[in-house]
Amino acid sequence: MIQGTTKLLGVIGHPIGHSLSPVMHNAAIAHLGLDCVYVPLSVAPEDLEKAIAGFAAMDNFVGFSVTIPHKQAIIPLLSEVSDIAQAIGAVNTVTKTDKGWMGTNTDVEGFLAPLEADQGDWSQSLAVILGNGGAARAVVAGCKKLGCAQIHVVGRNRENLTAFQNSWRNSSLPVEISTHSWEELPNLISQASLLVNTTPVGMYPKVDESPLDAEAIANLPEGAIAYDLIYKPNPTRFLQQAQRQGAIIVDGLEMLVQQGAAALKIWLNREPPVDVMRQSLQKQLKIEN
Ligand code: NAP
Repeated sequence: MIQGTTKLLGVIGHPIGHSLSPVMHNAAIAHLGLDCVYVPLSVAPEDLEKAIAGFAAMDNFVGFSVTIPHKQAIIPLLSEVSDIAQAIGAVNTVTKTDKGWMGTNTDVEGFLAPLEADQGDWSQSLAVILGNGGAARAVVAGCKKLGCAQIHVVGRNRENLTAFQNSWRNSSLPVEISTHSWEELPNLISQASLLVNTTPVGMYPKVDESPLDAEAIANLPEGAIAYDLIYKPNPTRFLQQAQRQGAIIVDGLEMLVQQGAAALKIWLNREPPVDVMRQSLQKQLKIEN
């Protein structure tokens, strides 16, 4: 029952209607039997500063998730930003502290969780990342943390690619990456141990699309890991192609679960019920399909 002592958590975005975070977090809260609720909060870009000030004024408001379009814009409004969020240039989790609001980014932890499960040695690995947007930044940081020998990023816009590359050179977490056009992909892919799709190509409703053409997919080495950040559909066309080619596949659902679990741990200082969170999302995605 919601009462005066109920702790408030939420997710800010615009629009926010389709966010899966409330389902996942409220399932975890119910499982843990906590006096807490997680709500979707629609905040227009021009109202971001006012919204944050309002949340600060509420004693029972303990933290919130941040999604599009606020992940970068919120940074100057926070009193502290973690090193990883600074390196990525985006915040997805905010917590109230004695000093004010502290922002961090749990997408790297989310991305790494399924890869770290097998404790592999990545020091000889070549990673190929498709796309150079916001999610690609967390993936670059993740590949650096894994210790990949080479990180290659493929994009369609030379200017965006150069800006992306330079931002990592000048970052608090410097990473040396190589950038490539899509035409270079078939050659590049033949050396890949890890291939990550961070573009929205293949995402619902355009489920028949894939970021890989026949030539590129034919060159994917057997035993490589193909990772798609998309979680709807599950699996994507890209993952189906990669699996037929003998790759090990990883879908985006686990990243979504694990970044949420990492956020919940920060807010509530409790071990998150990861299985419950995963099941709640699987059920919700089935309902939506
Ligand atoms: P974003 O910032 O808009 O970046 C998208 C990137 O994909 C950009 O580099 C863009 O290229 C490229 N791109 C878009 N359409 C393309 C096309 N038709 N062909 C080739 N490249 C294309 O988006 P984001 O926030 O990074 O999200 C990307 C995807 O990751 C989405 O599907 C999102 O749902 C997913 N995601 C999943 C999780 C998870 O927890 N599983 C977390 C975050 C994101 P330009 O630079 O040229 O525009």
